[in-house]
Amino acid sequence: DGALHETDVVIVGAGPVGLFQVFQLGMLRIRAHVVDALPEIGGQCQALYPEKPIYDIPGYPEISASGLVERLATQAAPFKPRYHLGQRVETLEPAVGGWLVGTDAGTRIRCTAVVIAAGAGAFGPKRPPLDDLPVYEQQGPGEGVHYMVGRREDFRGQRLAIAGGGDSALDWTLALADIAEKIYVVHRRDKFRAHPDSVARMRALAEAEDDRVELVVPYQLHALHGDQGRLTGVSVTTLDGAERRLDVDALLPFFGLSSKLGPIAEWGLDLERNRVLVDPSNCATSVGGIYAIGDVATYPGKLKLILCGFSEAALAAHDIHGRVHPDQALHWEYSTNTGVQGF
Ligand code: FAD
Repeated sequence: DGALHETDVVIVGAGPVGLFQVFQLGMLRIRAHVVDALPEIGGQCQALYPEKPIYDIPGYPEISASGLVERLATQAAPFKPRYHLGQRVETLEPAVGGWLVGTDAGTRIRCTAVVIAAGAGAFGPKRPPLDDLPVYEQQGPGEGVHYMVGRREDFRGQRLAIAGGGDSALDWTLALADIAEKIYVVHRRDKFRAHPDSVARMRALAEAEDDRVELVVPYQLHALHGDQGRLTGVSVTTLDGAERRLDVDALLPFFGLSSKLGPIAEWGLDLERNRVLVDPSNCATSVGGIYAIGDVATYPGKLKLILCGFSEAALAAHDIHGRVHPDQALHWEYSTNTGVQGF
């Protein structure tokens, strides 16, 4: 959103642990903003395995990952967290009485403390190893290389190469089939790892008379072709070196997500094997006012489980209370008699 905000705590990461941190802070009357690189909340649960059942959340013998995220968001909602989604936290600078957090979208948030709940790092698309990729990633809506479809209408009348063999590639092929002029579905083998129903529908489209959807298998992306920075085509090859050139306006690669710790590794915090080292009694990092919880945090005996992250969120919240409300003694109370109704 590009604006300057002010709050008590900025939580980096809206995974299950970051969401529960909102609740734990809220119970102690501490306000929070949450930033995530992904366009939706839920971290790994939502991005990697939304439909998988989880069996080790206390009180839920079985719950789907997306169901857990939904409940965590409901539990946090009374405390009115402000979410800044689709933005990566890049900078963390000391400011008077705390920190100034900056994102790649230009949003800046002044806060007293920062909680890093960043999992394995910011999620982003896996990018194909092609020359000149950054040039074509810069093009406008409906042309060049895109990893997400914001508006289907942007692709009306366009010729597209959709690469990948999973659910995203097939879902977007189906969703754009009656909008695009032509869709080439490029996959390295003639087997798809998507929902069987989607595979059947895509194959039916590929066999239709109108030729709007064409399967290009088993081919891999090989090179991009352009004219003055505008994408005009994509070359694909088989393992034996046979090459085909597809004339397209846009390439949509759907190769899944990868995560990288990225900027967090440059904030001067003590790290151990790509994780942030914390004091297990309060989840404080080596830098005052910065905490780390969940998968991104490590200490002797750390277990990378949602359950442990929840407990870490409680420990961090209690330590942060002393920074945000230094003049108020923390009277320990249970959730039955504190303000679960919110601010
Ligand atoms: P994450 O869920 O990883 O969320 C971190 C978020 O931070 C991400 O959304 C990321 O985009 C964001 N982020 C990172 N860096 C930045 C940045 N610089 N700027 C903005 N945003 C950033 N655990 C269990 O307890 N039980 C299970 O049954 C279970 N099953 C699993 C099954 C699978 C297939 C996988 C992959 C994991 C499973 N886990 C399970 C592990 C569990 O998902 C993780 O422990 C949990 O997601 C950690 O939560 P988190 O909030 O710490 O981090």
